[in-house]
Amino acid sequence: MKVGGKAKYVVFPKNEKEVEKILQICAENKLKSFVLGNGSNVLFDDKGFCGVIVCLKKMDKIQFLKNNVVKVSAGVNLFALNVALCERGLSGLEFCYGIPATIGGFVVMNGGCFGNEICQFVQSVRVLQDGIFKTLKKSECDFSYRHSKLQNCVVLSVKLKLKSEKSEKIAQNMASFLKLKRENQPCEFASLGSVFKAKKTNPEIYPAKLIDKMGLKGVKIGKAEVSKKHAGFIINRGGATSKDVLELVKFLEEKLRSVGVAPEREIIVLQEDGNE
Ligand SMILES: Cc1cc2nc3c(=O)[nH]c(=O)nc-3n(C[C@H](O)[C@H](O)[C@H](O)COP(=O)(O)OP(=O)(O)OC[C@H]3O[C@@H](n4cnc5c(N)ncnc54)[C@H](O)[C@@H]3O)c2cc1C
Repeated sequence: MKVGGKAKYVVFPKNEKEVEKILQICAENKLKSFVLGNGSNVLFDDKGFCGVIVCLKKMDKIQFLKNNVVKVSAGVNLFALNVALCERGLSGLEFCYGIPATIGGFVVMNGGCFGNEICQFVQSVRVLQDGIFKTLKKSECDFSYRHSKLQNCVVLSVKLKLKSEKSEKIAQNMASFLKLKRENQPCEFASLGSVFKAKKTNPEIYPAKLIDKMGLKGVKIGKAEVSKKHAGFIINRGGATSKDVLELVKFLEEKLRSVGVAPEREIIVLQEDGNE
């Protein structure tokens, strides 16, 4: 979102042992920690963060295994992953080409679009939970709409099962999904993606559609604005603060509640003291 202050510490572990060590050091020193992927879905406090940001972006290995299975380290971003899969002739993830996310963050929230969800391709997930390394089968991850039970673990890597396809066909799919995103989303501005979960709030109503219907597109607080292109997005017009964004989120929540809709946030708000 390009808002927010500074963290006290930021570390970039390169492998699982380093993640384990960092979390041990945090525990020993009573420091709060927060695991970050690409930060696409996290609204940082203007005052910063008082603990340790454990950014997994340097855990960026892709290993091609047998039978169209790929082992992807948590910090691999979806752009790089799609390009690598396309080169290898492995299809399935084209739908998420263009989403600014790491595979770890995307699996934790079971991200998706255009009728697909990442869990469709997950075989197993390697995690660090309460200081113990575990490999969870897909059935143990409790995936549902924008949810998994991985939220209280550190996802270290994911095994994905894909299918063979010609690289040209995969590249075409990637290009058409990217085009759809660019046409429908305000990709030219910094944002957090959809602010609210698009889960049906009653048989007919999605939060973004309702915000649009209520004429709230273009509403601004400071430099944060409800996108005119997609009512589900709040964009940074340039120079927005975290406070602007959060106030606008709360304003939309009030408006939605006033017509009987209880929106659920998709974004993560990280406060200075580490509370979410
Ligand atoms: C322009 C734009 C378009 C978007 N479009 C879509 C879309 O179409 N579909 C969709 O589903 N989302 C979309 N998003 C939202 C976003 O990309 C996803 O939420 C994505 O999953 C965030 O990944 P990340 O790596 O940036 O995670 P972060 O934002 O860094 O983290 C998100 C949460 O996951 C946790 N987390 C991150 N990595 C790990 C890990 N390895 N282990 C444990 N916890 C972790 C963090 O602690 C945090 O709570 C969009 C966002 C933007 C900005």
